[in-house]
Amino acid sequence: MRPEDILLPTPAGVCCKPGGFHIDPTRAVEKAIITHGHSDHARAGHGAVLATQETLDLMRLRYGENFAGSTQAIRYGESVTLGGVRVTFHPAGHVLGSAQVAVEADGLRVVASGDYKNVADPTCTPFELVRCDVFITEATFGLPVFRHGDPDGEIARLLHSVALFPERAHLVGAYSLGKAQRVIALIRRAGHDRPIYLHGALETITRYYERRAIPLGDLRPVRDAKKGELAGAIALCPPSALKEVWSRRFPDPVTAFASGWMRVRARARQRGVELPLVVSDHADWDGLIATIAATGASEIWVTHGQEDALVHWSKQRGLKARPLAIVGYGDEDETDGTAPGPVVDGEAPAE
Ligand SMILES: [Zn+2]
Ligand SMILES: [Zn+2]
Repeated sequence: MRPEDILLPTPAGVCCKPGGFHIDPTRAVEKAIITHGHSDHARAGHGAVLATQETLDLMRLRYGENFAGSTQAIRYGESVTLGGVRVTFHPAGHVLGSAQVAVEADGLRVVASGDYKNVADPTCTPFELVRCDVFITEATFGLPVFRHGDPDGEIARLLHSVALFPERAHLVGAYSLGKAQRVIALIRRAGHDRPIYLHGALETITRYYERRAIPLGDLRPVRDAKKGELAGAIALCPPSALKEVWSRRFPDPVTAFASGWMRVRARARQRGVELPLVVSDHADWDGLIATIAATGASEIWVTHGQEDALVHWSKQRGLKARPLAIVGYGDEDETDGTAPGPVVDGEAPAE
């Protein structure tokens, strides 16, 4: 049996013929397995969806009650058998509910990791290494220049700036699913217990994280705050809102942006970001290559991002490697923020 007999790459995502399902399909299919709630991986309109409870809930929050014909929740470590193929979910450490999907038949195991990171995140279950024959990896930050460093150090820089400019608001651009909540949790862990203000587009998902027992402290909607109250305060918003009329209500704001792309100074400058914070929910170059090596896989398929360098690196190590050229991934999280995102609260586009 070849890996392609279990999972076949197609332009719309990888397809399991014997199991009758696609993983993170970019068009509507009969049966979809969804790794996580970001809109480029989780789309509305599938017949049946198998995903973690959190991913299903997040899809429901974003797309409404009828986002799929039917749904089935599965836990980390749990398996289902579909058409003789065994499917097991494992934590991916990317955002709340994110999963790697291991697909096995005839002693051959293929792991589709979706998006992942192998560093600690107080808002989700840590990445679990799964040994496999074929590892399907993203490559969002698949270039050696991308080294994310220590997120706590980045948050310390933010808090230092808040202490230095007590009369200015600090406006932090952060993606609405995962990044915003992680940044808040990191700020709390650093001991900052004052109210943190939220743009309307971040409220629904952030409140959902709190309902899943992730404590985020005193959070308040920006819309209810008086201008004076915002002096010296930290507020989070979708990256696109940093430049919108919305941001004018803040007194002399310091603009920050939490993203792996902030490693590239030109990008920060281009966006007019004064305080770039390198915080990413994706593995950096070192994380990608360490993970690939640790899976023990002899074959690597690269889904999206900077595929070439990672394919090249894998081949140099004597692994079989190929880019999958799936169109439509990388639209939401950790793009450089220019792509339109979904409307969450009806207030403003999330990205
Ligand atoms: Zn993602
Ligand atoms: Zn992605």
